[in-house]
Amino acid sequence: MNEPRKIAYFSMELGICADIRTYSGGLGVLAGDTVRAAADLKVPMVAVCLLHRKGYCNQVLDAEGNQTEEPVDWVIEDFLEELPARASVEIEGSEVRIRPWVRDVVGHSGFRIPVIFLDTDLPENDDTHQGLIHHLYGGDLRYRLCQETILGIGGVRMLRELDYDDIERFHMNEGHASLLTCELFRERLRDSGPEGLDDETIEAVRRQCVFTTHTPVPAGHDKFPLDVVQGVLSERNTDMLEALSCLDGSLNMTYLALHLSHYVNGVAKRHGEISSLLFAPYAIDSITNGVHARTWVSPPFQDLLDQHIPTWRDDSYSLRNAVSIPNHEVWEAHDWAKQHLIHYVNRMADAAMDPGVFTIGFARRSATYKRGDMLFDDLDRLRRIHDNVGRIQIIYAGKAHPQDDGGKEIIRSIFRARAALKDKIEVAYLANYDIDLCKMMTSGVDLWLNTPEPPLEASGTSGMKAALNGVPSLSVLDGWWLEGWIEGTTGWCIGRAERTSAEPGDREKDAEMLYDKLEFLILPLFYQDRDRFVDIMRHCIALNGSFFNTQRMMAQYVLKAYFG
Ligand SMILES: *Cc1c(COP(=O)(O)O)cnc(C)c1O
Repeated sequence: MNEPRKIAYFSMELGICADIRTYSGGLGVLAGDTVRAAADLKVPMVAVCLLHRKGYCNQVLDAEGNQTEEPVDWVIEDFLEELPARASVEIEGSEVRIRPWVRDVVGHSGFRIPVIFLDTDLPENDDTHQGLIHHLYGGDLRYRLCQETILGIGGVRMLRELDYDDIERFHMNEGHASLLTCELFRERLRDSGPEGLDDETIEAVRRQCVFTTHTPVPAGHDKFPLDVVQGVLSERNTDMLEALSCLDGSLNMTYLALHLSHYVNGVAKRHGEISSLLFAPYAIDSITNGVHARTWVSPPFQDLLDQHIPTWRDDSYSLRNAVSIPNHEVWEAHDWAKQHLIHYVNRMADAAMDPGVFTIGFARRSATYKRGDMLFDDLDRLRRIHDNVGRIQIIYAGKAHPQDDGGKEIIRSIFRARAALKDKIEVAYLANYDIDLCKMMTSGVDLWLNTPEPPLEASGTSGMKAALNGVPSLSVLDGWWLEGWIEGTTGWCIGRAERTSAEPGDREKDAEMLYDKLEFLILPLFYQDRDRFVDIMRHCIALNGSFFNTQRMMAQYVLKAYFG
């Protein structure tokens, strides 16, 4: 009935478009771009995710920048098709029934990749189990483990119900799906329990599994205490985990995936190295992330590229020819995208921004390690730069996780700076950062700013989206920027490349370098040497757009992970 599929891609979140609310940030958007690239390249893949009926959250910001959240209700039937199959999984001693919904992601030449969304909101399940797929990253540890059971174990069972019997590789996008390994053991051992476990079976499951880790610090990895594990999982599965030596006082989802995958990768070169140290002796390779070019290039740049590089839509490598597009045409396309953004900001955020003014963009999850308010560490210096070197305006966006007080405080701090700079520098904070807003921002600003604390930015992808639209980055050297940075050619750096841990005085030094680069390099170029500024824009597309895309990334997964 179904087209044969060799790769099953599992992700807790997956962003297909802004209105399908099954993603929160970078991980989910990357998963969406991965599936889009697989469809373009006709990789025989099927993807699995949870339905997240109530999505992540809607962000409400008051005048002081206090964030509160509203539930999201999206109309599933408008976007997904229900399938008649049913699977079930044991959770807390009950059989929980799962219903699949599907949405096909269609590639450049019409090839389709089905994305299966798992739903437990069925009348035959009891109330608590109906709600298990409602909230993305909501609830407590028990809730999270229930979700991961549905994704991992329920996901494999659902694929079997849907007749996907030829799958050779199960790709776990982050540790949330690690429990799928238990189900693969069950399939092999059938009715014998863990006593049937031998090296050959373990090796066979390993051959089936691929794991991509996304977090460079131990605290970022899911870990469940024994009592939660015993409360949620079936006895058969806890016995299995114990027999695998993966239940040692607690269940660490990352170790489970590491232990049972024949190929493991980090998402940028530095991240691969850091993860190898963190998880020695496991061998961890790296495949640097990318973004899906056709999705992230703005309409005016799509037109420009169609004229000058007609092959760019199915051959991202050909973006290297962007260096030969005439400067004034690049600027015109950028100006169009910029006007579009500025109109939106003035309308939505009651701002009075001017398209002629140098515009800095910063948008990402408001997590403390991203240090989103660094640009305001020295307001007097910022004012002087604005007065003496060239006018600036600044656009922000990003949600804090509902339980992240530190992330919420950063939003308030940006609002305080905004008030302090009033009448001089325009600052806007746009609510409800999502895929559409990200498209508008990464193409419409003149500079993309990123200030994470090394080594916590595993990769980062929004700077890649900016690069595809000719927008240079000013960024701390971490994640992908260590690979994409050529000083004065693709953008500018903050800090040193060698830094892999927090050192005293980092923040002051980073902020100072941020201001120095703006004052002495970037603003003078923008206002006094526009031609050279636009030359940098062309190099962003040619050098970084042509490489940091999911076409190159997917080709590497195929070679190294799927058929390697
Ligand atoms: C691309 C994207 C991200 C990830 O951006 P980072 O630079 O990795 O922080 C987060 N949220 C949305 C909506 C995105 O489109």
